[in-house]
Amino acid sequence: MTNGAVDATELLKRAHRASLLSHAPTSGFHVGASVVTGGGMYEACNVEAGRIAVCAEHAALNLAKTAEGESLAVRAIAVYGSSPTCPPCGSCRDVIHELAPEAKIVLRQDGRPAVYGLPELLPHPTDLTPMSEFIHDVNRDPVLEFLASAAHAAAQMSFDPFSGLRIGTVVQTRRAVYSGCLVANGACGRATVSSELNALNAARMAEGDAMEVERIVTVGNGTVLSPSGTTRQALLALAPHADIMFPDNGHFRRMKVAELLPLPFGLSAPRAQRSGLE
Ligand SMILES: [Zn+2]
Repeated sequence: MTNGAVDATELLKRAHRASLLSHAPTSGFHVGASVVTGGGMYEACNVEAGRIAVCAEHAALNLAKTAEGESLAVRAIAVYGSSPTCPPCGSCRDVIHELAPEAKIVLRQDGRPAVYGLPELLPHPTDLTPMSEFIHDVNRDPVLEFLASAAHAAAQMSFDPFSGLRIGTVVQTRRAVYSGCLVANGACGRATVSSELNALNAARMAEGDAMEVERIVTVGNGTVLSPSGTTRQALLALAPHADIMFPDNGHFRRMKVAELLPLPFGLSAPRAQRSGLE
């Protein structure tokens, strides 16, 4: 760093060194992350243990939070992985949104640092601030009105004794309609299953590889009920072409997962979409 500026190249080098310590026997995908804050620098690597994996970015941010507590102010986080470009997965975008929403995110693209802001990687983030209205502007679309009503009914079945959130989702495939609700079981959020994933699991169980999701409609008592980054990562695999509809301050927004998860993480080495420093 010089004159208070973040040296993106140096930060990537630190992330690379951390990636050499990675434990990834399942995927063989080695990732390191480095975080620079107002008070220090922290590095971590990814660690896999069976089907449980801790991402490097998440681990590095945990180290920073543990050291600095309430005074934590993350300036930048760099990620270096085995693939030519290693953007944060959807879950890590959720963590960055929680702990470091203003941070610069430094990735390696075409062999050079490329700098992003979180809004570029996690547009329309979820806002669970309570909002009492359930039904939104569906009047002139009877099919959407039906789907929203079914999602509303599913939302009433939610189990989340901690937040009081009620969120329901209806998945419409080429063949049928499936619903799911939010289920949180209290294991520090670890085992919470989103309404989108519960509905998608029901569809998958019924239709298997033939499943083609056309529309996903979510309703509930939050302000912006876009899918979480974690769920976006799953939607990328399970419903890549679906219209994803969710309340955004009282209105339905309609988006594709490609718009909700730009520059997606994938083990198949995503192509660089841009290069150079901002
Ligand atoms: Zn991750």
